[in-house]
Amino acid sequence: MGVSRRGLVRGGLAALGGAAATLGVLRGREWFGPDRLPIDGGYAPAGNELGWHERGTVDVLWHVHTEQPLVALTFDDGPEPDWTPRVLDTLDRLDAPATFFVVGERLRRNAALVRDRYARHEVGNHTWAHKDLAQRDDKGVRDQLRRCHDAIADVVGREPTLMRPPWGHLGGTTLTVAEELGYDVVMWSQRMREDVFRADPGGIAADTAAAARPGAIILAHDVGDRDRLVTIDHLAEIITGLRDRGLRLVTVSALRAAAAQHAAT
Ligand SMILES: [Zn+2]
Repeated sequence: MGVSRRGLVRGGLAALGGAAATLGVLRGREWFGPDRLPIDGGYAPAGNELGWHERGTVDVLWHVHTEQPLVALTFDDGPEPDWTPRVLDTLDRLDAPATFFVVGERLRRNAALVRDRYARHEVGNHTWAHKDLAQRDDKGVRDQLRRCHDAIADVVGREPTLMRPPWGHLGGTTLTVAEELGYDVVMWSQRMREDVFRADPGGIAADTAAAARPGAIILAHDVGDRDRLVTIDHLAEIITGLRDRGLRLVTVSALRAAAAQHAAT
């Protein structure tokens, strides 16, 4: 109920008054449909005609099944000048590859900041303007993914093959357009718990290491509110903590490839 109600409030329907909003929650079905999705918590169906594409399927992964001691650290929402260079500096210093799910318009705007700096890393698509893809039709999703794709190809010089939907909101249109554009979808199995470690910022390294398992995909951010500085400030300890547990950091694609190769032998 809480989530639905918040969704309605964000949608501006609070202006209708509490009673109407409550009615909307109780009869929530009325607010849904391809042409009237709420701002938050909506969904986009795959559509009537899915078309005939190359693969007809996409992978949606939140961890990789492997017993090899590998994990993938991922950073969403950059690049921005405040934190991204700090993250890149630390990763360089520790020789640690990561996967960055970038926002296309930020990448274009901050291209000079990161050009040549993603060489050891993987860069994935996190939409052009951090839009909720679960509320967009195929045209809207395609536009968000293509513009970000082009930005990555131009600035980084490589074609991305992985995408992560903002907030992990995944609708049917995202799956079909991802397939069309040759993407697989990457969620996460673990996230940095910055909210838990506000009063004990040093604890986040131990917490992350304790929670990590072989094949984990770990969500972090190189952009955000001050709470997330806990991760940025302690990134070196976080990486060292993972390594002390015997885990090696790799990109998401390297994690998948290693697991596939291991399974085949
Ligand atoms: Zn995001």
